[in-house]
Amino acid sequence: MVSKFADMLIDLLLKKGVKEIEPKLDYDYGVSYYESLGISRDDFPNLNDILIELERKGILKGTKVGTIPTCPNCGSHKLILRLLCPICDSPNIRRVEAIHHISCNFTAPSDMFSSGEILRCPNCGKPLRAIGVDYNKYQNVIYCENCKRVSISPKLIFICSDCGESMSEGELDLKPLLRYEVIEERLLKPSLERAISEGLERRGVEVKHPSEAIGASGLTQRFSLSVKGGDSERFIDIVESSEGVGEEKVLALFGKLFDISAKGGVLVAIPRATQEAKTLAKSLNIEIVEASNLDEALTKLHSLIKEEKGKDRREVVG
Ligand SMILES: [Zn+2]
Ligand SMILES: [Zn+2]
Ligand SMILES: [Zn+2]
Repeated sequence: MVSKFADMLIDLLLKKGVKEIEPKLDYDYGVSYYESLGISRDDFPNLNDILIELERKGILKGTKVGTIPTCPNCGSHKLILRLLCPICDSPNIRRVEAIHHISCNFTAPSDMFSSGEILRCPNCGKPLRAIGVDYNKYQNVIYCENCKRVSISPKLIFICSDCGESMSEGELDLKPLLRYEVIEERLLKPSLERAISEGLERRGVEVKHPSEAIGASGLTQRFSLSVKGGDSERFIDIVESSEGVGEEKVLALFGKLFDISAKGGVLVAIPRATQEAKTLAKSLNIEIVEASNLDEALTKLHSLIKEEKGKDRREVVG
């Protein structure tokens, strides 16, 4: 069962024509999809759960685009990074430029080698001659005020600001960061069928959704919906194709209509049908309703049904 919020989100995705939902890292909430959708937390309090629900239904397809490190103890993403001396674990460190005296294998911050005009090793007392020959320089290394040792990089410790646990980088959980792709066909069909059915019902039309009938072939023929008008029933298929709904959809509907001996049908083409499809539909007595959004589909479909009803009445009267 799709929750009420999931239905609302489906409608919103359709209305805005959303193709992809991008994650944004957010200090308060970890990952946020609100910005990408242009909606607020008040409208959809549990958006992340709704997105997971729609992914399970195949309406969204999640692709991993990164990870969010989280606390293995409580799941929080609110981690504070601390840099420590990797030798003695002291937090009392600073970044320095360091010199490694190759002859005596001593490393210390460069300022400790200065002795007037020349550089002299504070360990062995010898003057330094040339870089790359008897000494090397390293930029942005870590010097520990506690143990007085130089390290290439600090030790990273993460402290969870929610539960207080501290952990190394290797202990962090890496939660996948997902970008969602909207599977338009999966999105459109249930939502459009439901919305069109409800919209027609509100306008006083008797609607069956979904609609099924057993054909002469013995097969159950399924339609998006059907509407009752007088003693006849009109069968309607809703089909979406960004390239234009083609002839094969007209033929598919015709085949189903023929099987159940229905008089005519309606193909709602989102957002449009190809010229070939229109020509074929005309010859097969199938109406095509082109609509680029829900309101348009509803309005056109309703006026078509009304028109048909009027025609029926005129036929009866005349
Ligand atoms: Zn924690
Ligand atoms: Zn140290
Ligand atoms: Zn030395």
